[in-house]
Amino acid sequence: MKVVLGHLYPDYLNIYADRGNMAVLDRRASWRGIELEYRPIGVKDPVARGEYDLLYIGGGQDREQALIAPDLAAKEPELIAAVDDGAALLAVCGGYQLLGSFYRDRSGAELPGVGLFPLHTVAGEKRMIGDVLLECRLERGVTHTLAGFENHAGRTFLDSGAEPLGRVVAGFGNNGEDGFEGCRLGRAIGTYLHGPLLPRNSWLADWLLAEALAHRLGEPPLLDPLPDDFEDDAHDVASRRAYRRGGRY
Ligand code: GLN
Repeated sequence: MKVVLGHLYPDYLNIYADRGNMAVLDRRASWRGIELEYRPIGVKDPVARGEYDLLYIGGGQDREQALIAPDLAAKEPELIAAVDDGAALLAVCGGYQLLGSFYRDRSGAELPGVGLFPLHTVAGEKRMIGDVLLECRLERGVTHTLAGFENHAGRTFLDSGAEPLGRVVAGFGNNGEDGFEGCRLGRAIGTYLHGPLLPRNSWLADWLLAEALAHRLGEPPLLDPLPDDFEDDAHDVASRRAYRRGGRY
């Protein structure tokens, strides 16, 4: 079994060790004998239809977002086609914002978005920083918690009817007001959670791998369970920290 992973702008959008998410996907795939082929996608690089099973974009400062936003917006038809065709996707923070319709940054400049996620983002004065804990339901009747770290000026507002990734248990989330975090569109996930996210939330890494394989196989295969003692401990430590701090500084 093989997964082709496309990493958008790894040289520009990579704060808070977001690249660590790649290492987790690679390890958890190879521990199950699944080949994960990693391909960086940069400025002017095409996103050929059907080429990618999984797409990833990380976070970044307003400056880096401004440098790649026009090129990313130009990839709109390819990215929307890839997700429509069933590719899985994970977008973190700055990348998540730019997959919405637009991001108005702190200088007031409006960065064009891809319009994949039904949302928009406007930067506020006070940054939203801290440990975060969410409650998520990606599969019917199965509740998971997601623990991570957020640091963003952007306030994200989902269009009506849009599906959030989760309910905020501790932290600010999308905008510190509506109690929701992230956005989900089928196999595409957007979130503010850094950390990196996947080392302390192995269930989400496995969900993404299974959905990426479903892009090839038709159905998400049942992946063999792994001995996740360290991962579970990391999740518990991050969850307790978010709880204790209520995730707000
Ligand atoms: N620059 C964006 C903001 O401040 C995203 C930050 C990030 O990716 N951590 O909201």
